[in-house]
Amino acid sequence: MEKNNEALKSIRQAVRAVPTYPFVPSEVPHKLDQNENPDDFPPALKQKALERMLSYEWNRYPELHADKLRGLIAEYENWDPKGVVLTAGSNLLIKLLLELAGIGQTLISSTPTFPVYSLEALMLDTKLRQVPLNKDFSLPVEELKAEIEAATQAGESGIFYLIQPHAPTGYLDPQAAVQELVEYADERGWIVILDEAYYQYSKTDYRQLVKGHARRLSMRTFSKAWGLAGMRLGYILTSPELAQNVLKLVPAFNISLVTQAVIEEALENDSYMHENVNRAISERDRVLEALQTHPTCKAYHTHTNFFLLRAPDAQSAYVHLLQHGIITRSQDKLPGLEGCLRIGLGNRADNDALLAALASYEG
Ligand SMILES: *Cc1c(COP(=O)(O)O)cnc(C)c1O
Repeated sequence: MEKNNEALKSIRQAVRAVPTYPFVPSEVPHKLDQNENPDDFPPALKQKALERMLSYEWNRYPELHADKLRGLIAEYENWDPKGVVLTAGSNLLIKLLLELAGIGQTLISSTPTFPVYSLEALMLDTKLRQVPLNKDFSLPVEELKAEIEAATQAGESGIFYLIQPHAPTGYLDPQAAVQELVEYADERGWIVILDEAYYQYSKTDYRQLVKGHARRLSMRTFSKAWGLAGMRLGYILTSPELAQNVLKLVPAFNISLVTQAVIEEALENDSYMHENVNRAISERDRVLEALQTHPTCKAYHTHTNFFLLRAPDAQSAYVHLLQHGIITRSQDKLPGLEGCLRIGLGNRADNDALLAALASYEG
C-alpha cells in the first residue's frame, strides 16, 4: 500500500521497505524484555551527579565531541583518547559505522544476531551476508571464513561483525575461534566490529585483540552492566585513524551535559558496577540451576545478563509468563531459535516470580 502513496514517494525505497523497530512497551511488574540492569544507579550517586550538573552552564553547548569524557573513558580503559569515540548509545554507532563502511558495500555476520545491524544495513543499502550459527550457538568458523573469502573474491569490502558474548544466545565462543575470525577478516581488509555490550558478565575482554590494529574496534556501552540505559552512552575503542573518520560522521554536540555528569560520576565510583555484576552472576547461576530440572523447558547456559529458554511452544510460554506479570521477548521467528524466549535476569524478586511462573508451565 505504501508503495503507491504519493505523499511518501520521495522517501528512499530502502527506508520504506524496512519494518519499524519491533518493540512494544508494556507496563508489567517484571520487565525482563530489554536485558536491562535490574539495579538502578545508586541514589547517593544520582544526588552527586545532580550537584555536578548544577555547576554547569545549561545555556552553553556541550563540547563538540565530549573530549573531557573521552579522556576519562580512555583513562579508564587504558586506551589512547584519539582512538575513543562516544555517541548517545551504541545503536547510533552502528548506524555511523555502516555510513562509514557499509553503504554500497557489505556487512558479514552470523545469524541470528543483534537485529539493529541488519535493519540499519537494509536502510543504508548495505549488502548483507549472514551465516547461520551452529546448532549449539557457537560461531561457524569455517563457514564464516568461507563467506569472508567469497565476498573478498567477489571484490566486496565492508564490515565483519561479531558479538562476544553473543546476543541473543548468551553463548561465549572460545577465544581462539574469535581471534582466528578477526585476523582472517582483518587480513582481507574488512573492518572488524567486536560488540562487547555484555563483556563484564562474561569476564572477557577483547581490548588486546583490537589494540594496534587500524581496522579493528571494540564497541561498549553504559546501558547494561553500568545500569545507565536511560543516559544513552556507547563508545568504541579503536585506532586513531579509524576513530578520526568515525568522528566526521558523529553529530556535533551529541553527548548532553546530563549524560556527561552522570557518566563522570559512574566512572569515579565504579565499585557499584562490579557489585551489580557479581549479584547478577550469582542470580544467573541460581536461576539456571533451578531450571535444570524443568520437565519441558530448556534453559541455555549463558555468559550475559539474559538467557534463552526453549519451550514446547514459544507463544504459550510468552502468554503464560505475561499473565504472571513477566514480560519477555520471543525469539521464535529467528532461524535456529524456534520455541525460544529471551529472558533478562532481574533482581531476586523478579527471578523468584519467574521461577514460580515457570513451575506452573508445562506447555
Ligand atoms: C544492549 C546492546 C547494545 C547497547 O545498545 P545501546 O544503544 O548502547 O543502549 C549493543 N549491542 C548489543 C548486542 C546489545 O545487546
